[in-house]
Amino acid sequence: RATLWLYEAGELHAATAKGYGENGARIGVAIPAREGVAIQEILDNGEVISVPDIRDDNRFRLLGEATEYLSWLGIPLLFNDEVIGVMELEKEVQGFYDLTYIQIGATFAGQAAAALENARLYKDSQDRAVELNQLTENLELRVVERTAELEREQRNTKTLLDILTEVSASLDLDLALKRTLALLNDTVGAEQGTVMLLNPEDGLLHYRAGDGYLSNAKYRDREFALKVGEGLAGWVVKHREAILVDDLDQDNRWVQQESDLERHRSAVAAPLMVGEDVIGVLLVFNRKVNFFNPEQLGLIKVIAGQVAVAINNANLYKLIREQAERLGNMLRNEQEEASRSQAILEAVADGVLVTDSENRISFLNASAENILGITTAKVMNQTLNEFSGLFGKAATIWHEIIQEWYEAPTEYNQGDSYAEELELDDGRIVLVHLAPVMLQNDQFLGTVSIFRDITHQVEVDRLKSEFVATVSHELRTPMTSIRGYVDILLMGAAGALTENQNHFLEIIRNNTERLNILVADLLDISRLESGRVIITQQEVNVNEVAADVLETVKQRAADEEKPMTFKFKVDDDLPSVYADPDRLRQIITNLVENAYHYTPENGQVDVVLSSLNGGDTIQVDVHDTGVGIEMEDQQQVFERFYRGEDPLVLATPGTGLGLPIVRQLVEMHNGKIWVKSPGELGKGSTFSFTLPVYQKS
Ligand code: ADP
Repeated sequence: RATLWLYEAGELHAATAKGYGENGARIGVAIPAREGVAIQEILDNGEVISVPDIRDDNRFRLLGEATEYLSWLGIPLLFNDEVIGVMELEKEVQGFYDLTYIQIGATFAGQAAAALENARLYKDSQDRAVELNQLTENLELRVVERTAELEREQRNTKTLLDILTEVSASLDLDLALKRTLALLNDTVGAEQGTVMLLNPEDGLLHYRAGDGYLSNAKYRDREFALKVGEGLAGWVVKHREAILVDDLDQDNRWVQQESDLERHRSAVAAPLMVGEDVIGVLLVFNRKVNFFNPEQLGLIKVIAGQVAVAINNANLYKLIREQAERLGNMLRNEQEEASRSQAILEAVADGVLVTDSENRISFLNASAENILGITTAKVMNQTLNEFSGLFGKAATIWHEIIQEWYEAPTEYNQGDSYAEELELDDGRIVLVHLAPVMLQNDQFLGTVSIFRDITHQVEVDRLKSEFVATVSHELRTPMTSIRGYVDILLMGAAGALTENQNHFLEIIRNNTERLNILVADLLDISRLESGRVIITQQEVNVNEVAADVLETVKQRAADEEKPMTFKFKVDDDLPSVYADPDRLRQIITNLVENAYHYTPENGQVDVVLSSLNGGDTIQVDVHDTGVGIEMEDQQQVFERFYRGEDPLVLATPGTGLGLPIVRQLVEMHNGKIWVKSPGELGKGSTFSFTLPVYQKS
């Protein structure tokens, strides 16, 4: 008997058997115990076992069964050095299998193993082919499904693309929204699409655009609005979440309007979000229940995102356009205003010169060109420094002030101005008014200078003064003669006078005296103004001069029996001044006499001399406790012929020329003069002036 045992998956079973007895019955049966030990050994070692008589072999005796055979040969089935089974041969006779049988058996076993392995490989490949077939079928099914899916996706993508093109191409938001909704309805099969937007002003959701069977009826008046949180749209805005509602009748968020003729049943709603902000909601409806699916929800969410961006863009565009329009209008107005101002400036007869905040000349009108003898082309955008020579030596102060304002603009307030007469190199006289241009917030924009050619007026003034001087001078001779003869008559040299004659002659003498003062003052001022007075400055002890003047006035007070206190205060080590001694005496006399005149009895007059500016300047203050000067009159006291209206002033003979003369004289000494008075009657006044100190060379 021959049996082929195959070892598969850890088990041994007979693949085929040929011979006596259980022929065929062994197939599929587990290995019989009798030869089990030997077979196991072959499996383990892969070596042939030949037993001549199993009765003598321990491996077969263990079970002690009756034997049908005596000789036993076991040959391993080897494939690639692996034992895949055992070929078993049995024979009823003793010692049947000799070496030849064993060799043939081994050869056969080798062939059998190869054949078996081939068969197994073939079967495996067959099995795999079946599997492959199934796989192919599955795959085909998937491809069909996926193609359908792709088609749907492609359709959606196309919708999305159309919508994108629609909303981004059009800046007319209403039109874009309506078209978008129409496309969307088409794609998802909705019967109504609606966009509601949040109005930042009232915080309500307002109907903005719609497409479908309701858009023309329900929202026609466009007044439909919901609060945030109210209704389905309000819920979506509040929760910032897209929702799919299968049946609106079952959803208590849905607010049924009585006016709804046809009722929505399914809906999808998605918030319109820009960044973190919700700006509205996109809704689609159908009258059938369970109409929309989650895939459509996804699509609508994506579209809502695009619509939100488009709305935002449209809003931004609107904002930008409005702003651009506003700016454009502003610019136009400003340009008009600027050209109008320029035309006005061009037209004025006075010269106008403007410097900008960089201290460069930014405007010059035609009159300025004429007056200054320069051309716009030459000076435009140049700094003043480059032209200082053009304006003559006298222009340095004007020029310095512009420089100062430019360097420290915050130190000057609006309203500050400066005026000066400039004598140009060609002899013309130009009056310049200079003012800084400031914005309210102290921003310095530059300066404006106004020029007026006053050469002619100055000349006329000078001629007038000269005429007055000549006339005054001519008047003095006859007046001296009148006064002389009146004195002779009063002395009785022409015979005794009656009381009446004496009285009349006294009146003549008094008035002649007044005329004399007037003529002297007139002569003085006109000579000063026509530039005919020359002062000769030298070292003068102002202390002595002031003390002397005070002594004279004190004497007068005593003579006229007007009780008055005089005080004199001098700084220690007061330096000498550089002045014309006669003119200095005239100045101080005039001020002290005014103080004496315009202070009632029992008042006080103080004269104070002090040294200023580290000894460069001397200040003289003449203070009184008299009638004082009203605030608004304080500038005028230095004008020619000004006289106050106080009774004490009216009772005092005077010409109103004293202070103008004093001012001219002080200024000729390079000094300054001013008055301070509380402006209340009886509170007195203080006249002060400065003089330069004499410098030893
Ligand atoms: P006059 O003294 O001849 O009137 P002034 O030119 O000296 O002319 O003075 C002009 C005016 O200024 C005076 O009329 C007076 O009103 C006022 N004034 C001058 N000095 C004083 C003073 N010390 N106190 C009050 N008023 C004065």
